[in-house]
Amino acid sequence: MSNDIHNVIIIGSGPAGLTAAIYAARADLKPLVIEGIQTGGQLTITTDVENYPGFPDGIMGPELVMEMRRQAERFETAFVSGDVVSVDLLKSPFTVIAGDVSYRAKTLIIATGASARWIGIESESILRGSGVSGCATCDGFFFRGKEVVVVGGGDTAVEEAIFLTKFASKVSLIHRRDQLRASKIMQEKASKNDKLSFIWNSVIEDILGVEVGHVTGIRLKNVKSGVVTDVPCDGVFVAIGHTPNTKVFEGQIDLDEKGYIVLKERTLTNVPGVFAAGDVADPYYRQAITAAGMGCMAAIDAERFLEG
Ligand code: NAP
Repeated sequence: MSNDIHNVIIIGSGPAGLTAAIYAARADLKPLVIEGIQTGGQLTITTDVENYPGFPDGIMGPELVMEMRRQAERFETAFVSGDVVSVDLLKSPFTVIAGDVSYRAKTLIIATGASARWIGIESESILRGSGVSGCATCDGFFFRGKEVVVVGGGDTAVEEAIFLTKFASKVSLIHRRDQLRASKIMQEKASKNDKLSFIWNSVIEDILGVEVGHVTGIRLKNVKSGVVTDVPCDGVFVAIGHTPNTKVFEGQIDLDEKGYIVLKERTLTNVPGVFAAGDVADPYYRQAITAAGMGCMAAIDAERFLEG
């Protein structure tokens, strides 16, 4: 147990957590960042980031977060690694246990992000970054003139499929049922797009191309007929939803039915002194720049709370 009572502990080290750290440190709050297992968050598993303002030539995801981290360090942010295993938000100062060390803080900024759901087959993890992607906004550009498939039937899958038609020569949306979960308006948009076709009642059994190091196709199974077919393609976009990383907060803070942290206003949770920023509280935008913006807001909210 550390005897210190920190002004602010930030849990998570993606763009939300690191931006919160930069702002909190510059406000002289001497923040402590608990980095988690995947230091840097989801950006560390993306390649080129071409839509983060200030980098006209693009920047690699891991480099972007390392630069944010360096900036936070410059203003005396302390970092510890270790996964948060439990928290006590019921009394102040709050307690956070990471690994086998217990930390205490007057305010807490939760920036633990969300994890993309994956199909869960071996070829998918081997080919991630080599044709398999979880983000059309990030990687669509690399598939100009190529054939791609999108997996999923929700708004994200349809939105990503429509977005990808700007680049790809052909986009096939694969859904495990024969009816989309996506909103009517999104479905109408999709049906009007000539480059987009649907493959119903189907799941991906395997992604082909492991032996050549990039995606060459998929093995599809029709769940009604059981028929298996190989379909050639250059890219596979998985859009089957995200899971917010909120397991350790269950029962102590308000979460919505999907597990996202509910914000009362700005970055305030229902627990006074506990703030949330980034994908953990945002199922909608899920961009590095929006997460960074929320991180900034959370640090300012924490600072005002401490002043009050
Ligand atoms: P979602 O609504 O949870 O949809 C996930 C989709 O993936 C579902 O169609 C589901 O199939 C499918 N799926 C789940 N696990 C699967 C698996 N293992 N194999 C194959 N398919 C699987 O997630 P989302 O599309 O990311 O949307 C999240 C939220 O953001 C929603 O509330 C959505 O409305 C919102 N959103 C809105 C917009 C917009 O309005 N512009 C854009 C994006 C997202 P089933 O249908 O069979 O369950």
